[in-house]
Amino acid sequence: MTISQLVQSQKEFFATQQTKDISFRKACLQRLKKELIKREDDILKALHNDFKKSEYEGVMTETGIVLSELKMTIKKLNSWAKPERVTPSLLNFPSSAKIYKEPYGRVLIVAPWNYPYQLALAPLIGAVAAGNTVILKPSELTPHTSKVTREIIETVFDKNHVAVVEGGVEVSQELLARRWDYIFFTGSVKVGKIVAKAAAEYMTPVTLELGGKNPCVIDKTANIKLAAKRLVWGKFINAGQTCIAPDYWLIHKSIKEKFVEVFKAELYNAYGDDPQASKDYPRIVNTRNFDRLASLLENEKFIIGGKVDREDCYISPTLVDEPSLDSEVMKDEIFGPISPVISYADESEIDTIISKYEKPLALYVFTTRNDFAKKIIQKHSFGGGTINDTTVHFANHRLPFGGVGESGIGGYHGKRTFDTFSHKKGVVKRYNWLDITTRYAPYKGKMKMLRTLMKFG
Ligand code: NAD
Repeated sequence: MTISQLVQSQKEFFATQQTKDISFRKACLQRLKKELIKREDDILKALHNDFKKSEYEGVMTETGIVLSELKMTIKKLNSWAKPERVTPSLLNFPSSAKIYKEPYGRVLIVAPWNYPYQLALAPLIGAVAAGNTVILKPSELTPHTSKVTREIIETVFDKNHVAVVEGGVEVSQELLARRWDYIFFTGSVKVGKIVAKAAAEYMTPVTLELGGKNPCVIDKTANIKLAAKRLVWGKFINAGQTCIAPDYWLIHKSIKEKFVEVFKAELYNAYGDDPQASKDYPRIVNTRNFDRLASLLENEKFIIGGKVDREDCYISPTLVDEPSLDSEVMKDEIFGPISPVISYADESEIDTIISKYEKPLALYVFTTRNDFAKKIIQKHSFGGGTINDTTVHFANHRLPFGGVGESGIGGYHGKRTFDTFSHKKGVVKRYNWLDITTRYAPYKGKMKMLRTLMKFG
């Protein structure tokens, strides 16, 4: 079936209104749950084949997250989908008012490679729950995971309802050139702009989950041991190929030396003497990304690491010492196991450096001073963040997850994923047993009543 035929058949399927039936959606999600559980080992193997992601990280950051989102969605779907009664306006007295949730229609999801299973499935679950048809385009850079994902979707869904289209940039462009009712894109800022332009052609609403250069501020009062341990975890999980990984550190000069010493010990605890030999340390996804990352290390001084092995797509956990703000490593999002470490003496330097960049997807601050944390959090605009840890704001489905400015548009997780894919239709029902005449012409003598009604409206 060509893309054009598939898009047309999904259009016809959506027109049958079948996806508006909540029990139909639930049955599909139940079948999906069964299949995801059945194929978990295949998914974990595929992730390992794609970039040596360990089974443990696979469960923690991919299959486990997807399954818990799916279970919650099945459990809550009735209440999420129910029309929501809101307080009627006095101006409309007598009346009642409700918000109806309706599916947008035909959804396109374009996914990245770095959490290739989770970032494809989590939005897909929300889109199906909200009653849409879906075409998912997974990343071509993780072909093993894309293949298992396609097999799962083909087993569970009628292709007129949900389908996977594999392929690279050309396929993505062919899909984007069509008319959609919603586009959900996760990936780079550069491609995000291409998606936004394509969507503008048909005024299609979008969610853009993008990236950015995420600062991590380490104050002189930080708990050094815990900060080091949590930074080792948050930076090197997935070998730093995480959209919300701390990118560069801003550390108070007075604690830098001590911090680095503790950090080395924590790194050793996590990955041993040689992270390349550790089963828990993934690889860079391909040689193109490897070359990009390796080139960032040219002409830099290292506090830790700096070891590269192109054959193995391996880059050791690396801390770059005091790079110039104009250096390559400080230009764009790093998206790998490299962190520039920049020390400051005066707190005003923190603001100057953070403000130099576009609004990041995440921001982290390690401190035991509440006022300091509050100041940083309130002063800067960023997608989301954590105080005294890294990346864990992602794990709370009650928090919106998404960017701001160049790091993205929209947010999801938990109920917000369902909301993302639902149009909210506000409807007022008027009653006929009374008709207050204030709004009707002639207006003479009604101003006082109008003002009173508007005051309480
Ligand atoms: P990418 O933008 O290169 O690719 C993402 C998707 O877009 C892929 O499916 C790819 O096939 C497609 N694509 C690539 N070039 C295209 C083009 N010219 N036209 C149309 N489609 C195109 O991103 P990536 O390398 O897969 O992922 C890394 C980026 O994603 C990083 O910037 C990271 O920060 C970001 N990211 C963001 C989040 C988030 O939730 N905000 C999560 C993961 C990754």
